[in-house]
Amino acid sequence: MKNICVFCGSSPGADPAYLQMANKLGAEIATHGYGLVYGSSNLGLMGEVAKGALSSGASVIGVLPKVFDGRVQHPDLTKLIVTDTMHQRKAKMFEISDGFIALPGGFGTFEELLEILTWSQIGYSSKPCGILNVNGYYDGLLKFFDKSVEMRFVKSEHRKAIIVDTDPKMILDKFEKYKPVKIDKWIDR
Ligand code: AMP
Repeated sequence: MKNICVFCGSSPGADPAYLQMANKLGAEIATHGYGLVYGSSNLGLMGEVAKGALSSGASVIGVLPKVFDGRVQHPDLTKLIVTDTMHQRKAKMFEISDGFIALPGGFGTFEELLEILTWSQIGYSSKPCGILNVNGYYDGLLKFFDKSVEMRFVKSEHRKAIIVDTDPKMILDKFEKYKPVKIDKWIDR
């Protein structure tokens, strides 16, 4: 059984399409026969991705640092894992997941996404990582990634390894064919 970890906003965002896509992604994870791993909250896009997955029959594992315990967690989780710290939480999410998808979100989502991308380029992660670019939400960040390649801080192979799509099914299909980039991270050394 594969688990897909979703990073996403703990707020609903300004565009109703974000909530709709969170629900659709949860349902698509179920359709693929996967389980969902996420941050355990019932708020915003986080609550909606869990709702979509649960209502389509997927197992949902929430991983929560104890600082949040009992305050915001989803009531219908298949399993709740409580960790002592935020860092342990991210390590646990990484350990039990086979791929990572970022929906729209804020600083928390960016941090989680960037950590996986960082681990991929140093070979610490060989798991696929995708961005669900709903209504162009990530266009600015993707453009900045391109600039980081142009300015020789990121290798184009590592930039190209990020799976970007507007359709959750396409991302999950691409995950099946993903081959990790096995090249040295450093440029001009
Ligand atoms: P943000 O994008 O800033 O809303 O943060 C979302 C990410 O940070 C999620 O993927 C979670 O892992 C974490 N996070 C933020 N708020 C919560 C919350 N209320 N409960 C659990 N995790 C949260």
